[in-house]
Amino acid sequence: LFAGAADFFHAADKLAVLPPMRGHEIAFAGRSNVGKSSLINALTGRNALARTSHTPGRTQQLNFFDIAGRLTLVDMPGYGYAAVEKAKVAAWTALIHDYLRGRANLARVYVLVDSRHGLKPNDAAVLDELDKAAVSYQIVLTKADALKQAEIQARLDATAAAIARRPAAFPEIVLTSSRTDDGIQDLRASIARLLAE
Ligand code: GDP
Repeated sequence: LFAGAADFFHAADKLAVLPPMRGHEIAFAGRSNVGKSSLINALTGRNALARTSHTPGRTQQLNFFDIAGRLTLVDMPGYGYAAVEKAKVAAWTALIHDYLRGRANLARVYVLVDSRHGLKPNDAAVLDELDKAAVSYQIVLTKADALKQAEIQARLDATAAAIARRPAAFPEIVLTSSRTDDGIQDLRASIARLLAE
């Protein structure tokens, strides 16, 4: 799936300009600086598919990528960056809210969480939104290379406990590092299983 072409094809900052639904779609969400661009690049084997050097909180668009003609990958704007003004946060929330509720072909949202920090209140707010919209989601812990083995286990346990009673959460947590490529293959397998469903 990820061996072939991965091409950017659309950016949307308003619902009116979302591309037509076509095949399966998966989306990646997470706080600014969580390592989302790095993960998308590692996943797709492309170095600059998602920009890694953007100003945190600046990207307010949904970016759509075609993966080998079989899957659409959506890079959602990072959230939780303190310096973003209120009006922008409101616009972000409205876009995401409408996208999540109106996208019948959205198979899963991968919610990225920094292993070092764990789930924060703004992550929980996003999970609430996903639960309410009944959109399936899975937690991906990022930057696992920055933790010791015991810390990783504690983070996995705490995260599993936090999502245990959330209705739309997929129970398995994926542990990744874009730096060492740990877990990237697991994530690819998770996505491939979605396509087979
Ligand atoms: P984004 O804002 O969520 O797109 O995050 P980026 O991919 O731009 O990464 C934010 C910062 O985290 C950068 O300084 C990256 O070098 C760093 N980073 C990203 N992935 C990893 C990782 O797997 N391990 C470590 N240690 N740092 C990472």
